[in-house]
Amino acid sequence: SLIFIPRELDANEPRVAASPDTVKRLTGLGFDVIVETGAGTRSRIPDEDFAKAGATIGKAADVAKADVVLKVRRPTDAELKGYKSGAAVIAIMDPYGNDAAVAALAKAGVTAFSMEFMPRITRAQSMDVLSSQANLAGYQAVIDGASEYDRALPMMMTAAGTVPAAKVFIMGVGVAGLQAIATARRLGAVVTATDVRPAAKEQVASLGAKFLAVEDDEFKAAETAGGYAKEMSKEYQAKQAALTAEHIAKQDIVITTALIPGRPAPKLVSAVMVASMKPGSVIVDLAVERGGNVEGAVPGQVVTTANNVKIVGHLNVPGRVAASASLLYAKNLFTFVETLVDKTTKALAINRDDELVKATMLTDGGKVVHPAFAKAAE
Ligand code: NAD
Repeated sequence: SLIFIPRELDANEPRVAASPDTVKRLTGLGFDVIVETGAGTRSRIPDEDFAKAGATIGKAADVAKADVVLKVRRPTDAELKGYKSGAAVIAIMDPYGNDAAVAALAKAGVTAFSMEFMPRITRAQSMDVLSSQANLAGYQAVIDGASEYDRALPMMMTAAGTVPAAKVFIMGVGVAGLQAIATARRLGAVVTATDVRPAAKEQVASLGAKFLAVEDDEFKAAETAGGYAKEMSKEYQAKQAALTAEHIAKQDIVITTALIPGRPAPKLVSAVMVASMKPGSVIVDLAVERGGNVEGAVPGQVVTTANNVKIVGHLNVPGRVAASASLLYAKNLFTFVETLVDKTTKALAINRDDELVKATMLTDGGKVVHPAFAKAAE
């Protein structure tokens, strides 16, 4: 079978869905691999490195021959025109709120897999693109926050005087938030963090940060069986806002990462809270592409407010550490592809009863098959 790795066309997508390491492993599985010329350029992987690993360097039109296409972003309608019907396409499909795009995948006849639906079970841990990318985003958010902040983060006692440690507040401590805590601590900041899931409390403490949350009965039940947060009630949100308001006014850098699967991001920082912060403070909104946690955050911009607080709303934050992000993403995809191959015949053999396939398969045989989207497509 033939695997094709295209160059991502989105101007804001520097990542690539393969690395020299995964190309080598894919050829080891029995695949022929074609990498589109320039696919790795923005992740610092030159064509030669892919070629040395066993890939043929090709052009965009080679996708027509591919049985499997590995991508970062969902293919556009224009891209889909070149795909072979029946090809497996593996990417971050971002299907929520994109019914037309999902229908287009079905219409193209491709078997589309949405990597972000990979179940968070032990067997699939190495295929978890949300974790691999969120971890880097959490790291990069601190780097971005620190670089917009006009002061040093660690306490520095020098002959010329003392620089106080920066106070950093992390809102939402899933994968990104935990890495943000660890990164801010390494830089010497005094770190506090909040979440609505009780499990977060111990994790925050184990990283040496202080946990702050409204710990009522609703909080005790806020975690779903899947480990995600529920959308909280109006009452809870009001209590949370009161607690946050007091704390935020004293912070130097705030990093927000709060998400709810399939829902808009919860609004955690109001304009009034932003206005209460000291001049020179920085807020980094990692949820900006999903509606934002911070009032006044603008996707793709660094906004400076009237009271001189910067609100950072960079797009595609994992893409800001593209070379690292691509290596991990490529490995996530490789591990999944490995499960789609028959070990003896070395042929592609998608087992539609496998729970990983069931959870991630979005379209198949001309239809939208994922239970969360099949209804909308009827
Ligand atoms: P996420 O990206 O969906 O959300 C980020 C964080 O925002 C979460 O911790 C969530 O609780 C929090 N949040 C949501 N609403 C909030 C609100 N109103 N106020 C404050 N915080 C709010 O989360 P994630 O990083 O994908 O992690 C979700 C869970 O999955 C965590 O428990 C994590 O440890 C777990 N996880 C498990 C595995 C695995 O078992 N393989 C892998 C990765 C993550």
